[in-house]
Amino acid sequence: MRLPIAKYGDPILRAKGRPIAKIDDELRALAADMLETMHAANGVGLAAQQVGRALQLTVLDISQVEDRPSTLKLNGGEVDPIASMPLVLINPQLDFGEEKILGSEGCLSIPDITADVMRAVTVTARAKTLENEEIAIEASGLLARALQHEVDHLHGILFIDRISSAAKASLASRLKRMQKENARLQVES
Ligand code: ZN
Repeated sequence: MRLPIAKYGDPILRAKGRPIAKIDDELRALAADMLETMHAANGVGLAAQQVGRALQLTVLDISQVEDRPSTLKLNGGEVDPIASMPLVLINPQLDFGEEKILGSEGCLSIPDITADVMRAVTVTARAKTLENEEIAIEASGLLARALQHEVDHLHGILFIDRISSAAKASLASRLKRMQKENARLQVES
């Protein structure tokens, strides 16, 4: 089932996700709905906050983006990142490589806005899967960027919080309008 995506101005996007204690049918159904919602919206990632749930749960799929490659090691072994998609990550913890790089980002919750964000080139992530297995991920490229963007969501942080002050100033009026509109819709619904 496709879920409505929370838009900028909706307070759920600022909520920190609760750690998930139990992997049950309800969680599996939520993850499946999030995957369907992300794919339908042509997104590369979706966090639980974006479908109205403050939980440490995110889904990712970079396989449809051909011009921004990724590398992926799963539990220490090199794997094909495309063939390993989608990922469902529960309670992910990130460690960041030292080298940083500027790259373009957008967000399904902030439609029609893209901006450059400074992120670590490589990240390592520890998370649980829906099968209740601990996995270790080492990623670079688009997948590393997407992981950082999604784990930020799980802590109530949006990519526009991390853009330059000049970029923020140039987007300020559009963001303000969007925030007002979505806060209003939130009150009415
Ligand atoms: Zn986003």
